[in-house]
Parts: sequence; C-alpha cells; structure tokens
Amino acid sequence: MPLSEFQLIARYFGALPAAGPAEGVVLGIGDDAAILRVPSGEDLLVSIDTLVAGVHFPPSLSPRAIGHRALAVNLSDLAAMGARPLWFTLAITLPEADPRWLADFAEGLGELASRAGIALVGGDTTRGPLSVTIQVHGAAAPGAALRRDGARPGDELWVTGRPGLAALGLRLLQSGAEAEDPACAAFLWPEPRIAFGLALLGLASAAIDVSDGLLADAGHIAERSGCGIEIDAALLPLEAGLASLPRDEALELCLGGGDDYELCFTAPPSAAADISAAAGRLGLPCRRIGRVHAGEGIRCPGFSPAHAGFQHFGANTDA
Ligand SMILES: [Mg+2]
Repeated sequence: MPLSEFQLIARYFGALPAAGPAEGVVLGIGDDAAILRVPSGEDLLVSIDTLVAGVHFPPSLSPRAIGHRALAVNLSDLAAMGARPLWFTLAITLPEADPRWLADFAEGLGELASRAGIALVGGDTTRGPLSVTIQVHGAAAPGAALRRDGARPGDELWVTGRPGLAALGLRLLQSGAEAEDPACAAFLWPEPRIAFGLALLGLASAAIDVSDGLLADAGHIAERSGCGIEIDAALLPLEAGLASLPRDEALELCLGGGDDYELCFTAPPSAAADISAAAGRLGLPCRRIGRVHAGEGIRCPGFSPAHAGFQHFGANTDA
C-alpha cells in the first residue's frame, strides 16, 4: 500500500539527526505549518533551489548523493551570505515511493543537515518526475550579511578550494571513472563553506558561491557592485587537481566549470592576513586570484574559452 505523504515524511525525515536542540523551532513537522521564532534582533535570510533530475544532476546519481546535493547547494547560498543555518523545508517529487530510495536519500540529506546544524521543519511530497526543492533559512546580525554589491576598486578577488575540480569529476564520472577519485568526489559531495562564510563577516566586501563557474559568478559580483574585475590566470589554483590536464583545458575547467560550491569574494588588501589566517584555521585552501577596478565587466587576460558554455549540472539561473 502506498505511503501517505504524512507517513513518508514521518518515516524518513521525521527522525533526521539533529546536531543539538533546534534553535527557534516552536513547532516542527506534523502540523499544517511550522512555527519558527526568528532569533531576536537578527536578519532572516531565505533561499530556495530546485534540482531536477537530468537538468541539475545526472539521473544516474545515487539517492544518497542527491540528498546531500539538494541541501548542499542551498547551504552554499547561506554560506555565501555569511549566514548561520537555522531551518529548511523540503518538497520532493518522486516517480514512485521506493522505501530504499527514500532511506538512502534521507541518509545523505540527514548527514549534512546534522553537520550543518540545520533542522528540517516541514515537507511535501508529490508524484511525478524526480525533483527536489529545498528552502533554507539562516540568520545574520543586522546588516552584516555578505552581499554581491559591496566590491570596491582596489579590493582583491579571492576563491576557496579547487574550482574546476567538480567539472572534471563530472566528466570523469560520465566516462565511467570510480566515484572515489578526488575529482569525482568534488562533484558528488560538494561541501558548503559555512564556517568560512561566517569567518568572512567583517572581512569580505562582497561574496558569491561558485555554482555556474568562476568567471560567470565573479562577473555577478562585478555587475552588482558596479565595478570591473580582472582575474590573473597565473594565480589560479591549477596546480592541484587539474595539473594533469593541458593548461588551456585546466583553465577552461577552472574558469568555466560549475558545481564547485566554493566561495568567491572580494576584500580590501588590509584584510588579507586575517582571511588567510581564517582559511588556515579551517584547513581550507584559499587564494587571491585577481583585483577589482573602476570600470565594468569580468576579464581574464590570455583566456578565451574554446567551447561556448561548459556542460555542467549546477546551473540555476538565480543564485
Ligand atoms: Mg548562489
């Protein structure tokens, strides 16, 4: 007998592990609506992302990886704003209520939710082609959240991690590589940079997470800030992960590949030492790759994409 919506949510998502008592949850799953108390005096940040099978991830992806990914891409948006994760809601459309699929999906989702300290407070299930929508809520001190529009001429451009590695991983997976390969793992298990986003509060002038590709996403900062940004190709982290590729190909993956969910941000040169120290404490690679200037647009001299538009699965057109 098919499970009802309530049974589905209760069975697979009602017992998601919590890292501690959920902050501000007056009433969670089980009623017509959740009752949530926004932390006193703080700003509430809200973001939503839908992942559709075959559009935002390969249909062959494991349910555990889909569960992780659906939450990770949303947490990455909170990380880019320097927000503290609080709550999320989940709407899932499934071709069939397969208990094993749901258990694996809930495991991938729950493991990350627990680590991030974010509580599931409501859900909805419907029948149809596989798609997962998550809405996240986070908090930040009033006016403190990182935005895209704060970059100023003279600021430096930074990026965390190894942008391009996830795009390489997707390519390898599609040619039958093992999921244990570090590049494949970068695609399968993106890690939202929550702690580092919080550490950037008061240091970064603007920030974005890299979902569509470094060049495109840094371009969003330039556009929203009314400045120009120039990336120095010689400073990009090509030596780790992408080192085995010809330089042009590595550059193209690094600048054009999506799905990395690293943070790209700007900061005044005076913040550089504190930024490096914060990244060091978290064991997160982070480096300066360019500069903000008066003017407009995003440039990386010496780089001209060989292919128009890289194939990737992260591209949500919003955030
Ligand atoms: Mg984003």
